[in-house]
Amino acid sequence: MSNTKPSASPDAGDASADSGVRTAPVCFACGVPCEERNEKPVYCPACERRYPQSLLKSLHDPFHYSLQLRGGEIIRFTAARINGEFAHLMFDDLYPANRPFPFERGVDVRIADIVWSADGKH
Ligand SMILES: [Zn+2]
Repeated sequence: MSNTKPSASPDAGDASADSGVRTAPVCFACGVPCEERNEKPVYCPACERRYPQSLLKSLHDPFHYSLQLRGGEIIRFTAARINGEFAHLMFDDLYPANRPFPFERGVDVRIADIVWSADGKH
């Protein structure tokens, strides 16, 4: 047993008084701890390299986005989540006529098959 380690445990639930302590920021896409930058959602360097900027933005800022898949399909969406090798695209009833199926609960597309992605109304 070590007797050099100082005891840091508070006695009676005073932990909430540590107002200066913040939880470590994690990458908004993959969840790994990463450095904080301002107060914006942060992304780790690996995700910054891997994903298009507009796709990263769609993870935290619902708006109008579009992307094209390798097969030529263009999908307009309003928000996304990263699930491993796939991006889950959500629509918020935007441009329903543009989709081959209603995709009422969104659609998962393989990230490696995204040819381009864009931010803004089109
Ligand atoms: Zn990441």
